[in-house]
Amino acid sequence: MPYPLKLIIYTDLNDTLLDRNYRFDDASEALELIRRYDIPLIISTSKTRGQTEIYRKRMALNYPLIVENGGAIHFPPGSFPTGRLPEGCRREGGEFVWEFTRPAQDLLPDLKDAAKVTNTIVETISEMPVERIMEYTGMSKEESELAKDRRYTIYFTCKGDRDFLFAELKYRGLKPTWGSYFCHLGYYNDKGLAVHKLTSLYRTMGFLDFTTAALGDNMNDYTMFQTVDRPIIVERPGGGHFSGIDIENIYRVEGIGPIGWNRAVIDLVNFIDWNY
Ligand SMILES: [Mg+2]
Repeated sequence: MPYPLKLIIYTDLNDTLLDRNYRFDDASEALELIRRYDIPLIISTSKTRGQTEIYRKRMALNYPLIVENGGAIHFPPGSFPTGRLPEGCRREGGEFVWEFTRPAQDLLPDLKDAAKVTNTIVETISEMPVERIMEYTGMSKEESELAKDRRYTIYFTCKGDRDFLFAELKYRGLKPTWGSYFCHLGYYNDKGLAVHKLTSLYRTMGFLDFTTAALGDNMNDYTMFQTVDRPIIVERPGGGHFSGIDIENIYRVEGIGPIGWNRAVIDLVNFIDWNY
């Protein structure tokens, strides 16, 4: 008999489920538990749809994917009952896409102008040669190329006063944030909004008695942490937790990236009563 839906886990990738070498071996024990109990493990990342596919395949997962900081949710074939998808989902290359924002290209003039006004120098990932992205992030050539194919969130580097630039961008109604390597700029989207939408969608299927958890490590996980029952922050490379998260019930698990991830998820799963 299959296990009931008792838990949904949202997870960031870089420096959370993935270590600095983009590996998740340290989380294998928890991933095994997730498979055993059929727990939806929803990747929620700033990466593009193409990049996310690399890890979805490696982890042998088939659940919806939150990409580009909540710019869209993609539903690969078999990941969700298509009859239950909301109106407005588009079909694209054999899967459904639920979009929450406008094209990233629209934000470019504001980013460039805000940089000029604040005397900062920004460089977007689309302006960077693939070799430099590889050197800067340690990603493979394949993933670095896929990282350029951005639709909803601009990735950029910033030289100068980042806080000043971010204030200017916020003043213009945009949403700047950051992850492991890049600053990010979106319009309506953030991870929290997409997590909220997807959780509500699971509820419309009649599942009501489940807990939501989210694991992350950095600023762009903030809104996701605010949206779930059990927010969990793992330690950053080098040790220690990112200090910019002020959420009362957050669990600061010991362990860098996938090591902390493994520990926290084992505890989460064991906390649930699976026998009814
Ligand atoms: Mg991260």
